[in-house]
Amino acid sequence: MEKEKILVIDDSTVQLEYLCSILGGDYQITTCLTAEEGLARAKEGGFSLILLDVVMPDMDGFTLLQHLKATALTRHIPVILLTSLADVQYEERGLLLGAVDYVAKPFSPVIIKARVNTHVQLYLYQTRFREQALVDELTGVANRRRYEAECQIRWQEAVRFQLPFSICMMDIDHFKLYNDTFGHPAGDQVIASVAQTAASRFRRATDLFARYGGEEFVAIFMGNDGPSAFAFLKSIREAIEGLHIPHNSPVSPWVTVSIGGVSLVPKSEDDYATYLKLADTMLYDAKRMGRNQVVWYSENKEQWRERT
Ligand SMILES: [Mg+2]
Repeated sequence: MEKEKILVIDDSTVQLEYLCSILGGDYQITTCLTAEEGLARAKEGGFSLILLDVVMPDMDGFTLLQHLKATALTRHIPVILLTSLADVQYEERGLLLGAVDYVAKPFSPVIIKARVNTHVQLYLYQTRFREQALVDELTGVANRRRYEAECQIRWQEAVRFQLPFSICMMDIDHFKLYNDTFGHPAGDQVIASVAQTAASRFRRATDLFARYGGEEFVAIFMGNDGPSAFAFLKSIREAIEGLHIPHNSPVSPWVTVSIGGVSLVPKSEDDYATYLKLADTMLYDAKRMGRNQVVWYSENKEQWRERT
């Protein structure tokens, strides 16, 4: 098994060599003599832990810690602070800034090893948990990661069994205007309400409804021809407008959605991405023709619209 990577930042060469001698057998270690270099290396990614000296010339460990915690790429990496400043105030400051642990020099090899092992294990566990989390936090529906993981598998099933397959894109109308008018917390609430209303109607085991990003959603489902998929999505669009969430959009006094999609029986030479793009084009048409409507494309090059 490949060794986990650890970044060690300390202005003392002696300390770096000492730490390498203790940890080098179990971990792949990168060493840096300055905080600036340490920050640059940390951003390159791949580290499961950072050991950070507090007292260094130029940028000190606390300042670097603040940078690490303020950067999305490095925020999750656990940091253990190393220092000879065996003062409780420093320890508190380090922990408040987001360090996971604190080891006072001189330290015993056994203690540093034990603490490093613990925090690397915790980090690996948390990373796996984050990666496996397939639910969108805000709405409770599937997230984009789950959609990305499943869409090709479902597409291939449809190809194999020659089942009618539908791809749907949905977008909340004038959502930026909603946020500007009612604020982002209210906007988040709208995203959640719209998602739950739509998701509750995709009930079959083969249905997948997911938040694609922002106020945009994607659904894939099997078994519907063009007209029945169109009617199904029209009922969802009406249910969302029927929530009667006030909006000052030019389309309706209520929050509404535009929906575009395509239904077809996929052939083995067909490509999922082509049909996703077609669904997106249908969504674009729905918006272009005044929003709050469904535009659907089916097999025999027919386009279904609510309004002409
Ligand atoms: Mg130092």
